[in-house]
Amino acid sequence: MSRLLDRLQHELAAIDAQALRRRRLIAETPCAPEQLLTLAGAAAPRRMLAFSSNDYLGLAAHPALAAALADGASRYGAGSGGSHLILGHSRAHAQLEERLAGWMAPHIPEARSLFFCTGYMANLAVLSTLGGAEAVIFSETLNHASLIDGARLAKAHVERYPHCDLQALDAQLAACDAPVKLIVSDAVFSMDGDIAPVAGLLALAERHDAWLVLDDAHGFGVLGANGHGVLEATGLRSERLVLVGTLGKAAGVSGAFVAAHRTVIDYLVQRARPYIFTTAAPPAIAHALLASLDLIEGEEGARRRAQLQARIAQLRTGLQRVLPADGNAWLPNSPTAIQPLIVGDNTRAMRLSAQLDALGLRVGAIRPPTVPAGTARLRIALSASHGADDVARLIEALGQVLAQPSREAA
Ligand SMILES: *Cc1c(COP(=O)(O)O)cnc(C)c1O
Repeated sequence: MSRLLDRLQHELAAIDAQALRRRRLIAETPCAPEQLLTLAGAAAPRRMLAFSSNDYLGLAAHPALAAALADGASRYGAGSGGSHLILGHSRAHAQLEERLAGWMAPHIPEARSLFFCTGYMANLAVLSTLGGAEAVIFSETLNHASLIDGARLAKAHVERYPHCDLQALDAQLAACDAPVKLIVSDAVFSMDGDIAPVAGLLALAERHDAWLVLDDAHGFGVLGANGHGVLEATGLRSERLVLVGTLGKAAGVSGAFVAAHRTVIDYLVQRARPYIFTTAAPPAIAHALLASLDLIEGEEGARRRAQLQARIAQLRTGLQRVLPADGNAWLPNSPTAIQPLIVGDNTRAMRLSAQLDALGLRVGAIRPPTVPAGTARLRIALSASHGADDVARLIEALGQVLAQPSREAA
C-alpha cells in the first residue's frame, strides 16, 4: 500500500483505539420516531424507536411539506440554475426572506433576512464577513463547530469565553480596544440543551459597543409563543443583533437564514463569500419552507410545541427516578428538546448506546471532539411526534442499561 494510504490507515486505527470511530446508519424510511434503520455492519434493517433527530416539531415528513416541495418543483423546476447574485435568486427565495424578516422585525430595527443553503454556511458567512482583520471575536466555549470554523475563517483575532460566564466576558470585552467586537454564542447549546443568557449578552454588547451573533439552530420553531425563536421568547430588541436560524431542524426542511439590520444584510450580499460563490438552493426548498413557516406559526405549530414540552417534562421526571445513585450518569438542567445524559467515558457511552440499540432504541452517543473530553454522553433528542408511550419506553430501557455495572473491564 502506498505511504499516503498507510498514514491514513494509521490515523483511523488511532481513532478506533479511542473508541471514537463514527459509523453511519442507513435510514430506510422517512424521519419519524419509528423508523426502519440499517445499523452499521447489519445485514438487514430493523424497526427502531429513535431519539436522535433534530426534527423537534415532527415536520420533516409532514405531508403538507412534502406536497409543498413537489408543488415547488413543478413551479420552479429542480435546480436554481445559479448563485443568488447571478440568476439563482427565485421569487420563492425572495418571499421566504421577506417572511422571515417580518418574524424578526419586532426584535431587530429595519430587519432583513438572507437565505443560505445551510446553517454551516450561514455561520461561515457571518463570522468571516463581520470578523475582519480589525475585529475581535468573543466566542463562547461550547459554540457549535460551524461557529468555530467561521471564526477560523475570519481574519479577526479570536478569544474564547467560559460557558455562560457573563462576568468573564465583561472583563474580556473591557480589556479589548479593537474597533469591532463580535460576541458569538449558540442560543440553545446543541449538545447540552441549555439556553444562553441572551439578555445579559445583549447588555454586554450594548455596554461594549459589540455585535451579538446568536445561533438559534435549536430555538427556531421551538421557542416563543409563535415559534419565532429565542428573540421572541426573550423579547430582545437591538440593531446589534445578528440572528442565524437554521431551517433543517424544527422547520423540517433544509437551509438557514441570517436576520439583521438592513445594512448588515446589504453588506453580506456584497462581501460574504459563502453566500456569493455557491449555487442557490433549489427554489422548491424555499417554497416548502414557506409552508413550514405557516405550520410553525399556526395552530398546528402551537399544538406541537405543547406536545414537545409535555414530553420534555415526562422524560426529566422519569429519568430522575431511574438514574443511578452513584452519580455515574447525570442529566444537566436543560429546558429544551435536547436532553443529554452525561456518562463521561467514551467506551461507556458507546456501550450504553449499543445496549439501547439491542432493545430497539436509537440514541446517539456523542463523544469528543463534538463535546469536551470526559463528557461523552447519550444525546436524547425529543420531538413533538414522540408519544408518551415512546418516552416511557426510553425511560424504562435507560433504567435497565444504567443499572448494569458502570465500570468497563480493565
Ligand atoms: C445544526 C447546527 C448548525 C448547522 O446548520 P445546518 O443547516 O445543519 O448546516 C449550526 N449551528 C448549530 C448550533 C447547529 O446545531
